[in-house]
Amino acid sequence: MEAGKPETAPVPPTDVEVSHRDRVIFPDSGQTKGDLADYYAAIAPLMLPFATNRPISLVRCPQGQEKACFFQKHDNGSFGPHVSHVPIREKDGATKPYLYVTDRQGLIACVQMGTIEFHGWGARADDVDRPDRMIFDLDPDEGIDFTECTRAARDIQARLADLGLASFPMLTGGKGMHVVVPLRRGHGWEAHGTFAKQFAETMSRAEPDRFVATSSKARRKGRIFIDWLRNQRGNTAVLPYSTRARAGAPVAVPIAWDELDAMENAHPYSIDDADALLEHAKSLEGWGCAEQSLPEPSDADA
Ligand code: ATP
Ligand code: MN
Repeated sequence: MEAGKPETAPVPPTDVEVSHRDRVIFPDSGQTKGDLADYYAAIAPLMLPFATNRPISLVRCPQGQEKACFFQKHDNGSFGPHVSHVPIREKDGATKPYLYVTDRQGLIACVQMGTIEFHGWGARADDVDRPDRMIFDLDPDEGIDFTECTRAARDIQARLADLGLASFPMLTGGKGMHVVVPLRRGHGWEAHGTFAKQFAETMSRAEPDRFVATSSKARRKGRIFIDWLRNQRGNTAVLPYSTRARAGAPVAVPIAWDELDAMENAHPYSIDDADALLEHAKSLEGWGCAEQSLPEPSDADA
């Protein structure tokens, strides 16, 4: 580091310039846009395996986490050369340019544009109609203890294991968890969504006091919503290591199954913890990786 410039930690080189580095974007905890860019620069090696070459949607908050944020799916060409585009045909037949990144520079370019959250499709950009990742998003109703959420994640893991599927837990940095099921590409969105729906419905039928499989707020009362709808074409889920546009600058973090019981909430890490996350990741080898396919549909699942 140059003498006389001790104020910032060394950041790996990227040619993406981050403007307004001193702008505070998490007013409660004080982190700046520069802090956010440094966080992404540091954890890029952990995040990129899950984030690259995948259509993404961004939560942009150009004036910080507390001010107006918007969910952006398409690019109007303003993100610069490090953010790529893939044309995707939408439900109404129109084709729109979706965003994806391939490297650290791409992540930083999004931060430069005011991005706080990165959400990913369940399919990669080179074949958006063949999903490779299933996600069960556990959304506990207010007042539900987090241990109920971790217990639900374990139950989902066990039921998936019965079907021959390995799965991996992630704390969202918000209120709940995601259980992530990596899949070999082959099947389409129809089979993907149907499997996820039937799986969630089977859980809620078996234990209706604990689980619901529909998003209706009324039915969710006192229960955990197993949101399987992330597994439909065009829907997204927050990506591992993404920051959240919530107070305190929390991040979504993959964890190991054997860490789950020690977790008190879904947001134990923030963007201040890049070093701890890099250390933590050493115990996560193989997280999110498994060569496996959906089981053949059977009448018993219906
Ligand atoms: P939490 O643990 O707090 O629930 P989460 O990331 O699962 O965190 P949800 O509110 O359950 O948050 O949202 C589930 C997913 O829905 C998000 O991860 C995101 O990808 C998607 N989503 C959220 N807001 C929008 C939006 N405005 N438009 C489209 N999709 C959205
Ligand atoms: Mn959720």
